[in-house]
Amino acid sequence: MDLYSGHINRLIDELAALPGIGAKSAQRLAFHMVNMPKDKVERLAKSIVDAKENVRYCRECYTLTDQELCPVCSSRKRDHSMIMVVENARDLAAYEKTGKYMGVYHVLHGAISPMLGIGPNDIRLKELMTRLEGDVTEVIIATNSSLEGETTAMYIGKLIKPTGIRVTRIASGVPVGGDLEYIDEVTLLRALEGRIEL
Ligand code: ZN
Repeated sequence: MDLYSGHINRLIDELAALPGIGAKSAQRLAFHMVNMPKDKVERLAKSIVDAKENVRYCRECYTLTDQELCPVCSSRKRDHSMIMVVENARDLAAYEKTGKYMGVYHVLHGAISPMLGIGPNDIRLKELMTRLEGDVTEVIIATNSSLEGETTAMYIGKLIKPTGIRVTRIASGVPVGGDLEYIDEVTLLRALEGRIEL
């Protein structure tokens, strides 16, 4: 026998399938939503559908954006010859928040992980190599300091080295396994300034 209505069970199942939401949180959220005013629920549902329908990848750096080009790539104030490679859009946002980095980015959407069966072709690496055919003087690899992040950094470094383009890696000092997005701005800037040649 179902303890709750079938509708609530379905909502709980959908919420529990989201990353970072356990069974208890899913229940709490589901009951909260059922008790919310209808217009608020509709606004929430619409914002999810709108985001899904309108957000796309930037044509240049592959971050998530509403336009063909993201604000960073379309800015003339940015140094387009300097590309910082990050694992995901959250890492880009972390560096953007410092307000000190004036180059552009490239978002890989993942990292190489032999254990999880994620290879170079599963992340946006080909797209990065295509960008390097343009006017690029430095590639800063800012993948996380996890095993996957380091593997990815080494792989990209080896790939770019023969092109003669300067390739650097942000300094560690960032805790091992630490996601860039959780690290404070000072540490991020120190890691950027202390970057080393690969
Ligand atoms: Zn972009």
